[in-house]
Amino acid sequence: MDNMIELRDINKTYPGAVPLHVLKGINLDVRKGELVSIMGASGSGKSTLLNILGILDNYDSGEYRLNGTLIKDLSENKSAEFRNKMIGFVFQSFNLINYKDAMENVALPLFYQGVSRKKRNALAMEQLDKMGLADWAHHLPSEMSGGQKQRVAIARAMITNPDIILADEPTGALDSKTSADVMEIFRKLNEDEGKTIVIVTHDPGVAEQTDRLIRISDGLIVPDNKVVIPEEQEVTKTPNS
Ligand code: ADP
Ligand code: MG
Repeated sequence: MDNMIELRDINKTYPGAVPLHVLKGINLDVRKGELVSIMGASGSGKSTLLNILGILDNYDSGEYRLNGTLIKDLSENKSAEFRNKMIGFVFQSFNLINYKDAMENVALPLFYQGVSRKKRNALAMEQLDKMGLADWAHHLPSEMSGGQKQRVAIARAMITNPDIILADEPTGALDSKTSADVMEIFRKLNEDEGKTIVIVTHDPGVAEQTDRLIRISDGLIVPDNKVVIPEEQEVTKTPNS
């Protein structure tokens, strides 16, 4: 069993006056310890897919197995338990809490696990130190640069020692130098700690640094054997990107 993620014929429709069939039969395997990127035009369903992978959202039909466990119709409690145990999230907009300092932000997932304040703060300091941010532990997000904020967010994702990190356009708000620093962190977590990492990105330079590029188009994964279309061409073909 060396797949961390197995998706079989995953369908997802957002209901509404005009229902939107976003995922139209996604099949995808990600092996344990893989570092992969997902690219696709804006609105192609990348975040929807990542939210399903992260058990933040349900799918309508198909099967999703995470480390061999079928993730389907779980109760709120079960979903939260799997999320806390298995998954770390990183978002484009960092999603830090403004009125908490870096250490408190990093420690927060452990608060929800009932870890004592002393212990969770010590573990948060360890993670911040790994990110080169020990001196910033008592600064608020508003006092930090984008790159620093994203490193705080990665430290927060790592504090529960998840098997898998899901990142939705983690470099989308960063300049190219800072993006490279953040990618270096993901590569290290993958290489040194064996984390399985899935990164949604618009940046071909980011995708290039991953083991495998997965393309999503019209609600389906583009097969590997298809010629890879450069991003610019794809964008011109897709008016709403
Ligand atoms: P991407 O991340 O690739 O830009 P998304 O997965 O965010 O795409 O969205 C795919 C499509 O689904 C878009 O057309 C978007 O407007 C729509 N969508 C996303 N979330 C919702 C929602 N909660 N309710 C209804 N429509 C949604
Ligand atoms: Mg998105």
